Amino acid sequence: METKPKKTFRCDIAFDECKGCSRCVEACPRSLLKLGDAINMMGFPAAVYAGEGCIGCGACYYSCPEPGAITIVEITED
Ligand code: SF4
Ligand code: SF4
Repeated sequence: METKPKKTFRCDIAFDECKGCSRCVEACPRSLLKLGDAINMMGFPAAVYAGEGCIGCGACYYSCPEPGAITIVEITED
């Protein structure tokens, strides 16, 4: 029987593009984002992704006011 490739997603946050507004943190239905401890080039605590569990819903992406700060990446595994 042929099995379908499993699709998972990842949320990439461009560290120096984030202005630490927390909109993505509040928007994520799975609570996978938080503001990190590190301060970026613009002086803000950039958001960080928990590392797993992203369902690719795009809520963080659409809530972010900074173009290019968030990219949702689809990962296809065998
Ligand atoms: S795409 Fe959805 S599940 Fe994934 S980090 Fe963004 S808001 Fe959370
Ligand atoms: S919504 Fe965008 S700018 Fe705001 S904390 Fe999240 S990644 Fe940073």
